[in-house]
Amino acid sequence: MFFIFGTNTTRLAAEPISMNCNYCHQENTMALVHNQRYFHIFWIPLFPLWRESFSTCTHCKQLLKLNQMDPELKAQAHSTRKQLRTPWFTYIILLVIVLFILISVITHIIKG
Ligand SMILES: [Zn+2]
Repeated sequence: MFFIFGTNTTRLAAEPISMNCNYCHQENTMALVHNQRYFHIFWIPLFPLWRESFSTCTHCKQLLKLNQMDPELKAQAHSTRKQLRTPWFTYIILLVIVLFILISVITHIIKG
């Protein structure tokens, strides 16, 4: 028997920001993107891992990770990250396991 497992990401938020790109110098083309990475087995989410934040330019597609951003943009990214919630479906297998255990206990109690 083999297992297919790994990590995947889901988009939490993508917000346009009124800043100019420091690479192509286009005006108001920047966006902050926040993703949630989660562990999966057979592509079914098991549990959430970490969040990734980066800025992107919609014109030249330059990506800047959190540690590459200037302090003003980094502060804005951190304040947005605090408001985001982890999607419920990243816990789906854990919820199924808890439900299975609950149903097993309840049927054991009913049968005596
Ligand atoms: Zn750009």
